[in-house]
Amino acid sequence: MTTTRPFDTSDPSDARARAARLVTPELVARLTRGVPGSGLAEVHSPLTGERLAELPVAAPDEVAAAFDSARAAQRAWAALPVRRRAAVLLRLHDLLLRRQDEVLDLIQLETGKARLHAHEEVQAVLAVARHYGRTAPGHLRPKRRGGAFPVLTRVRELRHPRGVVGHISPWNYPLELSAGDALPALVAGNAVVMKPDTRTALTALWARRLLIEAGLPADVWQVVLGDGPVVGPQLVRHADYVTFTGSTRTGREVAQGAAARLIGASLELGGKNAMLVLADAHLDRAVAGAVRGCFSSAGQLCVSVERLYVHERIAEEFLRRFTAATAALRLGAALDYGTDVGSLASQAQLDAVTRHVADAVAHGATVLAGGRARPDLGPYFYEPTILDGVTPEMRVCGEETFGPVVSVYRFTDEDEAVDRANATSYGLNSSVWSRDARRARRLAARLRTGTVNINEAYAAAYGSVGAPMGGMGDSGLGRRHGAEGILRFTEAQTVAEQRLLPMAPSLGLDDRGYAAFVSRSLRAMKALRLR
Ligand code: NAD
Repeated sequence: MTTTRPFDTSDPSDARARAARLVTPELVARLTRGVPGSGLAEVHSPLTGERLAELPVAAPDEVAAAFDSARAAQRAWAALPVRRRAAVLLRLHDLLLRRQDEVLDLIQLETGKARLHAHEEVQAVLAVARHYGRTAPGHLRPKRRGGAFPVLTRVRELRHPRGVVGHISPWNYPLELSAGDALPALVAGNAVVMKPDTRTALTALWARRLLIEAGLPADVWQVVLGDGPVVGPQLVRHADYVTFTGSTRTGREVAQGAAARLIGASLELGGKNAMLVLADAHLDRAVAGAVRGCFSSAGQLCVSVERLYVHERIAEEFLRRFTAATAALRLGAALDYGTDVGSLASQAQLDAVTRHVADAVAHGATVLAGGRARPDLGPYFYEPTILDGVTPEMRVCGEETFGPVVSVYRFTDEDEAVDRANATSYGLNSSVWSRDARRARRLAARLRTGTVNINEAYAAAYGSVGAPMGGMGDSGLGRRHGAEGILRFTEAQTVAEQRLLPMAPSLGLDDRGYAAFVSRSLRAMKALRLR
């Protein structure tokens, strides 16, 4: 097996000059118009380590005031016909398609990721805007339901907005995880007060501005910035519902805050996602899929692959090709397509990745590819890394790394592979690779994760926004996308209208007679297969 070897790097482009041209004081002023803040926070680009902008930081009373104005604006917004709100999403779709280059630069500058990975965020928001732009009226319209007694009871189920949704999002997918969850909340008639991670707030603020250009009243989507442990709980304190994406540890705190106030919450949390390569898998496709699955956004992706289970019969050949493909990846800071892997997002990320790899190596793991920081490319670059011989006492075995590091394991039979893939408290995403689609589907249903991809690592399930996405176990609560992804932002209300006869003894029946009449009616309803 090969050992580490140098990576090819793309031509370094001038991220510094692009940042100076794009992130001007005028842009920052435009994006932060209406964003409350008595303090200031500096944000830096991970590509250069240099300052990008200074952004306003909200004090607690400013967060409260943002909720007040969101609440006031929400009434008129909710009173609009759903189709008018949905039209805003469809206009956003077209604006984003046209203006994508601007936000791709911002995403790259704020996160350090490669441009194609930034484009995945654009794709995801386009898909969500189109999907809910088209389907929201159907999801939200009043529905007739079967009544307690046919003819006598008429029932309609209504969907009301929750009110003001508190929306807390992380730094790793700043466009997708800010707009992607805000859009269904907004089209359902809610206002949103969002706290993006300050480090990537320019992208989130840009998304908000674009939605305002598409026709959203500005006060309906408020942004507040500041330290997570300070500003985050303020959102939970004032919101009517909370949607959170981030770590499992913080997710538990948010859930506790929501529980204390008896408000709903959806939580999209961490993962330790497994990819299973069966003996009959198409090897080249599985190798390319593993590269995408493990190293997209330098592994800082909740659904990315960190555990790779390969059937022992093909393991040697698979690893030979996977190692070669990984070692051939081009790392770089170019603000353009053509670079395969970008930078990690921060010193904390670099430290966490370095610690996991060092701990594994100290306990006897072998580095098949990568395994080194690359300060020559930028302050937080780290090579895509494959580890072999990982054992349970190594931290990388069970803990989420959230970086470009994958551990490879061999299996002999599929039951064993399923058991090992499921042996984690997380349950976010998994993938199965096989030429036999039926077999893969049977296996998929046995994996305890909210999404399973067959012959793709994560993008097939994540990109299919008509179907729910989210985590089981420690990976979360609730789902984004699909019907769940919009109905979570609504309160269901049942309006039942009783006609002709009351639901009590009448027409001269005493209690016994009425009980007998109801029993006969229920028996008939079952026989008639009424639901
Ligand atoms: P994090 O939990 O530290 O931060 C997430 C957000 O919560 C940030 O905006 C942060 O400022 C805020 N926050 C911090 N402390 C808070 C508190 N006490 N109360 C309220 N809000 C608080 O997570 P992170 O490190 O920024 O993100 C990485 C994690 O997110 C990884 O574990 C990753 O797997 C997970 N993630 C999950 C998904 C998903 O869809 N399941 C998507 C992306 C990231």
